[in-house]
Amino acid sequence: MGEDMFRFGDELGPLRIVHVYEPSVALKGVLVVDNVASGPAVGGLRVAPDVSVGECFRLARAMTFKNAAAGLPHGGGKSVLFADPRGSRAALEQQVRAFACALRDARDYIFGPDMGTDETCMAWVKDEIGRAVGLPRELGGIPLDEIGATGWGLTHATEVALEYCDFELEGARVAVQGFGAVGRHAARFLVERGAVLVAASDSRGAVHDPGGLEVSVLIALKAAGKSVAELSGGQRLDRDAIIDVPCDIWIPAARPDVINEGNAARLRTRLLMEGANVPVTPEAERYLHERGVLCVPDFIANAGGVICAAMEYRGASERQALQTIEEKLRRNTRRVLEAARDEGVAPRQAALRLALERVKAAMRTRRWSLF
Ligand code: NAD
Repeated sequence: MGEDMFRFGDELGPLRIVHVYEPSVALKGVLVVDNVASGPAVGGLRVAPDVSVGECFRLARAMTFKNAAAGLPHGGGKSVLFADPRGSRAALEQQVRAFACALRDARDYIFGPDMGTDETCMAWVKDEIGRAVGLPRELGGIPLDEIGATGWGLTHATEVALEYCDFELEGARVAVQGFGAVGRHAARFLVERGAVLVAASDSRGAVHDPGGLEVSVLIALKAAGKSVAELSGGQRLDRDAIIDVPCDIWIPAARPDVINEGNAARLRTRLLMEGANVPVTPEAERYLHERGVLCVPDFIANAGGVICAAMEYRGASERQALQTIEEKLRRNTRRVLEAARDEGVAPRQAALRLALERVKAAMRTRRWSLF
C-alpha cells in the first residue's frame, strides 16, 4: 500500500500530492508539487476530464526541469481540476475559486494558466488567495500570448542554434505547424529577421508556397476565425503534409507526439525548434539526431512563456520581460548546444543534465533536500 502510494517518488520528488474534494460544487482536483528547492513552484492549472495523477506528476516534473533550465528561482508543480472545460462558465468559476481556497496554504505553489484555463480564471484565483500569474493586464498581468512571449524566445533560441548549423537566417525556409499563440508569433519574428515562411498549418489544413507566405495575411485569416489553408495563393495541402515540406527550420507549435517513429523520416529539414511541449517522441528525436538534424528541446526552446510569468510575478514590465526572455533563451540555448557538441551527446541529454545540476545544487542548500 505505502509503496504504491509513493510510486512516483524518486530523488527529485514529488514533495507533495494533494487531493481536493468538495461535493457541494462537485470539485475534484489534484495538486502535485514536485520540487521547490529553487523556490515556489510555478505551473499551470489544467481543466480536463481525464488527466491521471501520473500525468499530473509528469507535467509537474517537466516544469521542474523547464524552470531550472531557464535559470528561474522556481520549482515545478501542476494542478488539475477534473471537469469538462466546455461546461458552464459559472460552474467553472465556482470550482476554480473553491480549488484555490482549498489550496490557500499551499504557499509553495503559484497557479498559472494551462489548457482549459485563462487569465480570467487566474484573476479568480488571485481574488481568493492572492497567488497567481498569467493575470489580466488590469491586475498587473502581462498577456504573454498576445505579445508572443514564447515565439519571441523561440526566435532567439533559433538565432543561437543557427551558429551550430551551416546556414543563415537570411533566406532560411521556415515551416510552422500550428499557427496559434506560439506559431504565429515565431513566424512573425523570424520573417522580420529575414527568414522566409514557406508553409504553415492549423488543425484544419496547411498552405505551402516556396516563394514565401505573407505572415500578416495569415494572422488576419486566423483572427477572422478562418484556417491558414483558406489563403488565396499558395498551394493548399492536407494538414499533416506540412511534415513533407522541404525547409531549413521546422517548428512544431501544435500538439504532442506529432513527430514519431512512423513519420520522422519524412521530415526534410536541417533544424527543428520545438515550440510545442513534447512534439517529438524520444525515438524520433534520437533518429533525427543521428541523421544530423539539430533538435532544440522543448523545455529549452519554449521557455519564453514561463519566464514571462515569473517576471510578471515580480512586477516586471512587458519590456523587461521580453528583455529577460531574450537574454535567458540565448544563454541557455548556447550552453546546451555547446555542451552537446563538446560531449558528443544529443541536445536533450545535455539540457537534462544542465537542469538536473541546477536542481541538485539548489537541493544541497536545503536542510532537507526538497523543502
Ligand atoms: P494555440 O491553441 O494558441 O495554438 C495551437 C494551434 O495549433 C492552433 O492554430 C490549432 O489550430 C493548431 N493545431 C492543433 N492541432 C493541429 C495539428 N494536428 N496540426 C496542425 N495544427 C494543429 O496553442 P499555443 O498556446 O500556441 O500552444 C501550442 C503548443 O505550445 C502547445 O503544445 C502548448 O502546450 C505549447 N506551449 C505554449 C506556450 C505558450 O506560451 N502559449 C508555452 C510553451 C509551450
